[in-house]
Amino acid sequence: MSFPIKTCVVCGEEFELRPDKPGFANRCPECSAPEAEEQADNRHLSAEERKALSEVNAERRKVIRDLLYRKDR
Ligand SMILES: [Zn+2]
Repeated sequence: MSFPIKTCVVCGEEFELRPDKPGFANRCPECSAPEAEEQADNRHLSAEERKALSEVNAERRKVIRDLLYRKDR
């Protein structure tokens, strides 16, 4: 029994599309793995969401700093 041979869209290598292959159907196992890790690191946030989040964090730090500064006086 053989599996259909697909060409990876990332590296161009041919690979067997096994039914239990994790990741994308158009990517070889080697190119599917790093993508999964990357998504975990980014916690599925888009670039815009990460930017918004960092802006919120920066604003929060500024507010906390202002509060502490005021308390000290
Ligand atoms: Zn590949």
